[in-house]
Amino acid sequence: MKYVLVSGGVISGVGKGIIASSTGLLLKTTGLNVTYMKIDPYMNIDAGTMSPTEHGEVYVLDDGGEVDLDLGSSERYLGVTLTREHNITTGKIYQHVIERERRGDYLGKTVQIVPHLTNAIQDWVERVAHIPVNENQATPDVCVIELGGTVGDIENAPFIHAMTQLQRRVGKGNFLQIHVSHVPVIPPGPQGEQKTKPTQRAVSDSRREGLNPDLIACRCEIPLEAGTIQKVANMCQVDADQVIAVHNVSTTYRVPLLLENQKLLPTIGRLFQLDSIPRNPTLV
Ligand code: ADP
Repeated sequence: MKYVLVSGGVISGVGKGIIASSTGLLLKTTGLNVTYMKIDPYMNIDAGTMSPTEHGEVYVLDDGGEVDLDLGSSERYLGVTLTREHNITTGKIYQHVIERERRGDYLGKTVQIVPHLTNAIQDWVERVAHIPVNENQATPDVCVIELGGTVGDIENAPFIHAMTQLQRRVGKGNFLQIHVSHVPVIPPGPQGEQKTKPTQRAVSDSRREGLNPDLIACRCEIPLEAGTIQKVANMCQVDADQVIAVHNVSTTYRVPLLLENQKLLPTIGRLFQLDSIPRNPTLV
């Protein structure tokens, strides 16, 4: 099983969900079975009790699970059917650990965020990643995990810690992180300057938490200039092909093509050492 973690920095709402689903779709075009999970760090057990004006539309899964709209995007992009278990929230994972504690599963132990909660997150992710989600009931090869919120948020901390542990548990070649950041244009408009500082801060925040992004996705209102991409690469000490530019498009269904044009698949194939990904893939 390979894991692609899609995390975010600077601000939420930068397009993590669309980038996560689009990456999954590209991987699916190579014949891999792709599944998807979303981690929402809020305390609610699920999105069902949240106001749509605050949280956005609630998406209802086939099993009745009331979840974030990103699960709806991924069902559509990947052609899969997800369950309520594919969405972890802080409320859900705490409830799970507290129920186990009451049952006596940890008898004699002091139950702590590390390792008990972080282990429970990893176990949950590994278990749910293996659930077949497509029509042919095949066990997935790749699990795309979208982590809501931004790295550095207090609510995010146990999940980030769990992801650093998961990376070690499954091995570096089986875990890849795409960190999504925002590149503002100041002043707004074609003459404005594309500012990379928020992205530099976002990458350094992630590294401080123990996660070193393999790919940096920069969301910008307008297409990123070559100089901006090179600057992000230089300042974050990665290769230019590890920087992905995602500008505003007329429909989010264009985002997979945007990623494909930047040769995301061969880059992921190299990082994952996946032979099934051709060097110069074309969408099928
Ligand atoms: P996040 O997961 O980071 O909160 P989403 O993926 O839910 O962000 O995207 C937030 C909003 O931005 C959604 O309405 C989505 O349709 C829109 N969006 C995302 N990426 C793009 C893009 N490249 N161009 C235009 N709109 C986008």
